[in-house]
Amino acid sequence: MELAGDSRSNAMTVDVEDYFQVSAFESVITPQDWDAISPRVGQNTHRILDLFAEHGVKSTFFTLGWVAKRCPDIIKRIVEEGHELASHGLDHRRATTMSKNDLRDDISQSKDILEDIGGTRVIGYRAPSFSINSSNEWVYDVLKELDFIYSSSTYPIAHDLYGVPDWPRFKYARPEGIIEIPIPTIRKKDRNQGIGGGGYFRLYPYSLSKKRIDNYLASENEPYSFYFHPWEIDASQPKVKGAPLKSRIRHYINLSRMEGKLVRLLKDFKWDTMRDTYGIIQS
Ligand SMILES: [Zn+2]
Repeated sequence: MELAGDSRSNAMTVDVEDYFQVSAFESVITPQDWDAISPRVGQNTHRILDLFAEHGVKSTFFTLGWVAKRCPDIIKRIVEEGHELASHGLDHRRATTMSKNDLRDDISQSKDILEDIGGTRVIGYRAPSFSINSSNEWVYDVLKELDFIYSSSTYPIAHDLYGVPDWPRFKYARPEGIIEIPIPTIRKKDRNQGIGGGGYFRLYPYSLSKKRIDNYLASENEPYSFYFHPWEIDASQPKVKGAPLKSRIRHYINLSRMEGKLVRLLKDFKWDTMRDTYGIIQS
């Protein structure tokens, strides 16, 4: 039997950042250290683009301005191969750690870099580590000012590092004039559980992740969206020493199985960009 959801497209998204730029390692590696580390994000993103081409998948790449400057070839390839180029900010500072002026600078620089290299308009933004909550809703004013149309920056779950468990679970229009598309969740025992990707996808057997997505599509009249990072398919990345144990476990769990699981995911569902999956109309 075919489920009603099988023919709908879902959004595939990649947060384009390197392994040493993740919030989990910020206590041991600062942005001042980054230029001295040999980047792996370029080769990993090329590998992802190869996999997407092989399986006929279109995706949205939420990309750091920092990465775009150093690896312009991946930006050009993202655009040339029909994917959507979007912003993940400049250098992965969380929106909750910046003043409004600093954040405006950060996002506007990243947008300019991406648009210059890609030769295309950038309308989507994802805050690093889903860092929009009730303390900084003015981020949406900044996005509107900078001519963005949508954001996918909120995760309506309770989590130790981020999350807005009481916020909407599905795409909605913000009063500031921006469309917010939250990371998908399922309801369990009166709580939201995250099913958007990341560590859970690497932790669980693929069959369980697939079942959870199937359940979501069968019960919700909404597309599903998935996110992952280029470093997640890179099992031979150098190990970062000195980071907290919990961060290391979350970062390194099952990296070697990720590519195989990802390929199954690409084959089992229909994937497209955020823009086209959610019918974002460019004005
Ligand atoms: Zn990120």
